[in-house]
Amino acid sequence: MTTQRKQFISLGEILAFVLECKNCHAQTVNPLDEKFSQLPGKCPNCERDFLKSHPSTDAKLKQIVDLVRELKKVDKQEDEEAGHLPFLILIEIAPAPQD
Ligand SMILES: [Zn+2]
Repeated sequence: MTTQRKQFISLGEILAFVLECKNCHAQTVNPLDEKFSQLPGKCPNCERDFLKSHPSTDAKLKQIVDLVRELKKVDKQEDEEAGHLPFLILIEIAPAPQD
């Protein structure tokens, strides 16, 4: 018999969006509890271009960050209009690779 375990995280467990350069693996951490400022246009380490060849990605990333922030407010019942949700919002993640 094969069993499969599903792994979930709650919105409260999402702390930051991290951009990792595919060239040098340097990471830029964008905490969700801080104002999301301009994404780096290039890798701060190797200076590889991040966004010039993908101009719409900057706006899309900001939308994702704003959406997650808003959902976290609702999840924490900080949103006056939404009130108390009768469910939890969970995100399924891929299982960690086995060694
Ligand atoms: Zn880099």
